[in-house]
Amino acid sequence: MGYSDKHKLKTTNLQLPIRLLLGPGPSNLHPRVNQQLISSMVGYTDASYYKVMDETMELMRYLFQTDNHFTIPISGAGTAAMETCVSNLVEPGDKVVCLVSGFFSDRIYQMAVRYGANILKVDKQWGQWFGLEEIESALVQHKPSLLTLVFGETSTGVKQQMEGVGELCKKYNCLLMVDCVAALGGVPVFVDDWKIDACYTGTQKCLSGPPGISPITFSNAACHKIATRKTPVANWYLDCNLLGGYWCPEFNLADGTISKEEKSSIPRRYHHTTPANLLYSLREALVLLVEEGLDNVWKRHQDAAILLYAGLESLGLKPFVPQLNEQSEKGGRLFSLTTVIIPEGVDGKMVMKYLLDNFNIEIAGGIGAFAGKVWRIGLMGQNANPSNIKLLISSLSDALK
Ligand code: PLP
Repeated sequence: MGYSDKHKLKTTNLQLPIRLLLGPGPSNLHPRVNQQLISSMVGYTDASYYKVMDETMELMRYLFQTDNHFTIPISGAGTAAMETCVSNLVEPGDKVVCLVSGFFSDRIYQMAVRYGANILKVDKQWGQWFGLEEIESALVQHKPSLLTLVFGETSTGVKQQMEGVGELCKKYNCLLMVDCVAALGGVPVFVDDWKIDACYTGTQKCLSGPPGISPITFSNAACHKIATRKTPVANWYLDCNLLGGYWCPEFNLADGTISKEEKSSIPRRYHHTTPANLLYSLREALVLLVEEGLDNVWKRHQDAAILLYAGLESLGLKPFVPQLNEQSEKGGRLFSLTTVIIPEGVDGKMVMKYLLDNFNIEIAGGIGAFAGKVWRIGLMGQNANPSNIKLLISSLSDALK
């Protein structure tokens, strides 16, 4: 009983290796983003902090290519953003269609189960994407109020076809929720043009930021659903009715109107202490995107992926997803994350260990149905550049000898 030395750690000096992170995320931090982690702490009601919040919201609209007023960062990893969408848009008994063909689309399905949805789960073999006919037939059969899908599936390296999906959802009066965690800031995504109602990402992938803060955006139709629910959102921390009171008190979620009063004169209601330093670093990551220009950023990721494919081919390695498809709204290979078939007779884990031990390069193996079958190579954010690819290909060539 009483004071004990039992758990007093003998060392206090934290030392970590410096890795080149070429897996499915996290990716390396941009130095300017890293620097913001030590910017000065201010209180969550400080006017200077409110300015950072508002600027970050505007920058996120650029990232998402949306005019959605309700565009905020969630304090938590990408999964928290996913859960924000599910917990706010699903009421017990609501009909939901979940398109599932990978690890993360299945995670959305599992969440929707927990929030009491009446679900039609449309399963497809991992590595494939959904066509318009099967989406329409699910909408006709189940008459859902929400359809969920993953745009860039990190477990398979597949980019879901988006052409026509939003139009179908509108036709059948259904909200569309899209996971863009592995794609946003690397691959073109157009929230408004694609008629997406709920979209989210993480910071630790194509934004080259630290994990723990995750942008989301909701259309006015999604906000209306959230504000007019019959039951309270079952997750208090992620309830957007409450979060809106802090991030955008000028916005009426029910009818989409914006108060004419000066924002600075409208009181913000405290909800939780947001991770200030993560917010500064997210803001910086978005400023970097603005400086480079999203179209240039997309092109850089595409060029990097094409260089990677050529390098893989020179080693006799094949991407798992055969279809290249450069048009953003078509299905095909996800430029930011490539799944590579592990050749027969090669020990995938040994190769990963060799890269890590000898070159400090991290790539990942497959997960779920793809465990042991593929490697996953991410070229995300600032890591998507030719010198990293040359280094990876020469190191892989060494590892495969
Ligand atoms: N969705 C996709 C497509 C992902 O790749 C990931 C993470 O890899 C997530 C969701 C979950 O993000 P996090 O690990 O930040 O919670």
